[in-house]
Amino acid sequence: MLLDTYGRQAVDLRVSLTDRCNLRCTYCMPEEGLNWLGKPELLTDEEIVRLVSLAVGTLGVREVRFTGGEPLLRPGLVPIIAACAALEPRPEISLTTNGIGLARVAAALRDAGVDRVNVSLDTLDPDTFARLTRRKRHQDVLDGLAAAEAAGLRPVKLNAVLMRGVNDHEAADLLAWAIDHRYQLRFIEQMPLDAQHGWDRTQMVTAEEILELLRARFELTPEPSAARGAAPAERWLVDGGPATVGVIASVTRPFCRACDRTRLTADGQVRNCLFATGETDLRGALRGGADDAELAELWRAAMWGKKAGAGIDQPEFHQPERPMSAIGG
Ligand code: SAM
Ligand code: SF4
Repeated sequence: MLLDTYGRQAVDLRVSLTDRCNLRCTYCMPEEGLNWLGKPELLTDEEIVRLVSLAVGTLGVREVRFTGGEPLLRPGLVPIIAACAALEPRPEISLTTNGIGLARVAAALRDAGVDRVNVSLDTLDPDTFARLTRRKRHQDVLDGLAAAEAAGLRPVKLNAVLMRGVNDHEAADLLAWAIDHRYQLRFIEQMPLDAQHGWDRTQMVTAEEILELLRARFELTPEPSAARGAAPAERWLVDGGPATVGVIASVTRPFCRACDRTRLTADGQVRNCLFATGETDLRGALRGGADDAELAELWRAAMWGKKAGAGIDQPEFHQPERPMSAIGG
């Protein structure tokens, strides 16, 4: 099992399949993109499946979420998922995507074994989308969402990040639209994980503010069954339910005490936290001929060293060197 000294067990594995992306969300990466990893640095499809298999078969991982960068850009995505879905015990498999190209592959992803998708959509307005992501691809995302729903990847979840003066006025509109389409919306507080280090706490739209914006139009009551557990989102019933909305207050109300995650970057590094400043090199060990027992021991040791919290509120907080897109959000 993947335990740490605070009694937490990691059962939820986030796998980044690539650090590349076809959008340039301003809260994530600069206009010119980043120094992408080269092919030799990336884990191969077989290496990814071997490590996921180890995590699921030996280390107690029960959920695998593929992310990036943009995971739909990974050519081997469908076969990787099919191989992971064939593992025993079968893990829950999900995908976090910006939705571009999802219209083409939603059915194939479902057939390969994807159980759920989270699609990021921050705005209903194509112009705001273009400003926020620096690409005119709003309609592609909407098409992707519709295809995911049609393929039965339900409930389709939406992730939205609000930025002050850019899209924060859309909070209630986004929720109304999501409910209308039976998508489950979650707002995420903007975190200091952008490559350009432009995050500014005073500019961040807080969970409290988000709830206030929503309460101007909807009645929100805490979801009674929602013992928050390891789920990062606090969920609210909208106008008495059954529709819900989630708010992930990673900065103002962090959920580190219940964190059950472990992360594998596209270049084969284990991270025990989004905000970790250190990594454990599984790729080097794997390519150096390590057997499964040795790899498992490295992974266990990486998690054992997990800190109590991300420490965003501490004066000594340092943003990790790698941005969200390289870690796998
Ligand atoms: N490209 C895919 C996408 O956008 O869904 C997957 C990777 S992306 C890094 C995963 C999630 O992280 C997205 O929902 C995105 O909005 C969110 N994200 C990126 N940068 C963020 C930041 N600085 N603070 C909070 N969320 C962020
Ligand atoms: Fe790409 Fe996702 Fe980052 Fe946007 S948030 S730039 S879609 S990786």
